Amino acid sequence: MKPDYLVNFDTRQLPQDYWDYVIIGSGIAGLYAAYMASSIGKKVVVITKQAVDNSNTDKAQGGIAAALGTSDSPELHYDDTLMAGAGLCDESAVKILVNEGPGRVRELIEIGARFDQKGGELALTKEGAHSRRRILHASGDATGAEIQRALASRIREDKNVLVLENHQAVDLLVHDDTCYGILVYDRSAEGLHVYRGAGVILATGGLGMLYEHNTNPEVATGDGIAIAYRAGAEVMDMEFIQFHPTVLSLPGAPRFLISEAVRGEGAYLRNRYGDRFMVRCHDLAELAPRNVVVRAILSEMANTASEKVFLDLSHMSPDLVRERFPNILKTCAKYGLDITRDPVPVAPAAHYMMGGVKTNLNGETSIRGLYACGEAACLGVHGANRLASNSLLDGLVFGHRIVECVKKYKIGRPKKQIEFACDWLDSGPVGYNKIRTGLRTVMNQNVGPVRTGEGLKKAIEFFNKYSYINKHEATSPPDMEVRNMLEVGSLIAESALMRTESRGGHYRLDYPDSRDSWRKHLILRK
Ligand SMILES: Cc1cc2nc3c(=O)[nH]c(=O)nc-3n(C[C@H](O)[C@H](O)[C@H](O)COP(=O)(O)OP(=O)(O)OC[C@H]3O[C@@H](n4cnc5c(N)ncnc54)[C@H](O)[C@@H]3O)c2cc1C
Repeated sequence: MKPDYLVNFDTRQLPQDYWDYVIIGSGIAGLYAAYMASSIGKKVVVITKQAVDNSNTDKAQGGIAAALGTSDSPELHYDDTLMAGAGLCDESAVKILVNEGPGRVRELIEIGARFDQKGGELALTKEGAHSRRRILHASGDATGAEIQRALASRIREDKNVLVLENHQAVDLLVHDDTCYGILVYDRSAEGLHVYRGAGVILATGGLGMLYEHNTNPEVATGDGIAIAYRAGAEVMDMEFIQFHPTVLSLPGAPRFLISEAVRGEGAYLRNRYGDRFMVRCHDLAELAPRNVVVRAILSEMANTASEKVFLDLSHMSPDLVRERFPNILKTCAKYGLDITRDPVPVAPAAHYMMGGVKTNLNGETSIRGLYACGEAACLGVHGANRLASNSLLDGLVFGHRIVECVKKYKIGRPKKQIEFACDWLDSGPVGYNKIRTGLRTVMNQNVGPVRTGEGLKKAIEFFNKYSYINKHEATSPPDMEVRNMLEVGSLIAESALMRTESRGGHYRLDYPDSRDSWRKHLILRK
């Protein structure tokens, strides 16, 4: 069978470069892996689709979790992560996360990340489903931007690392289950380029843009997962998408996230009649796990015939609100809301992907020489539902382990110079823009936080209808994204239809309970 590619190409006619590591993505996972690889003398190229700081990492608000407090321990962090993960966490992965996490966060501080302090100590806050204050934050609610800044400025000074902005990864070059490199489109020069390396690391982040309503930047189109799947890698847990409960819902305003930390500091959720409904829904009220809060909000919206509920911070100290959430305060003020006083209209939106390219504990995928870390990867550390503020930590811990693994086992560059080509794709217009809009609506309506077999089948019909475009070239970067979105959307819908139960981020109205027989992962391979 012919391999599946997005474009026609012939590597013999393309410029080619050789690096120790080729890293795709410049969020926390990609940049930290680059920093680690350089620190052991490796030459690294970081390929990134737009500007270096256009990432989910840059948008992260609430913080990064690590058991650094005096009343905290990795064991407590482990218990909370497992509880949120709804029976599907890989326990060894979680042990690594919580035990190695504090050391990695200290390294991040040494690199130059400045986290908020109180009385000379790190200021730690609490978020939903955490039993202790263990979330480090920066500039109140701009934690991701600070981490991104610190890592990017360190990488820019690094002679071993070259960062290529406006470069979009297209397809992996794989032969006999071994990865030889990656085909990349230079968006400025408008041409293809081949990057070969001993290790190709996918750190391409999430896929929020598949949904009409989401919190992610426009680069989050699931490219890495689609690219790996097309090349034959295994993907896992694709049905588990986390929807964030509280995203600003105002006509004309962007879907701006109102961090979980706002509820962590004491904000209430109220329906349009002022009723604090979470008290009726869960013992932890507003701090229940995200999937619980999302469903409670959706049911409240339906019961009160409203498209939103409200976050109420009016009982909290205005000084605390200003100090802790300056970014949220400023953004809401642009739309005429004073969050210290006014109820903030919110609704759920797609936020985070628990599934992704299947890896082991060292970031190795099912293809030799191909690694994945961060949100694009899946090793079961978040189970069926990620605990808040564990994803930045995941990017650090498992990005680091890839480099350790390659060092330990002295994994080298594939020895043979194999060339690759594809000349069987048709050219001609396909109407990708229309497909992108249709796909995002279908995902929102049928593959959202509440799913049914009937809705999922409708989504699958949509994907089948467009499967013919796999025989066409996708020559522009947005068209390539649409091909990737179709690939990944179809994997999510297929997995969600197969899982006839509800668990974590996957809720089926026709199968509302969890079943023991489903305490297992769905692994897909082309
Ligand atoms: C609004 C918001 C708030 C959040 N708050 C928190 C929080 O408080 N705490 C927490 O732990 N998590 C939070 N998260 C989640 C967290 O930010 C992400 O899971 C994490 O940053 C992912 O890091 P990453 O390095 O895997 O991917 P990203 O940071 O998304 O980086 C992916 C990179 O890959 C690049 N890329 C993608 N496709 C291609 C391609 N084809 N070719 C080349 N480059 C490509 C992108 O341009 C980007 O540079 C939040 C997310 C959002 C959206």
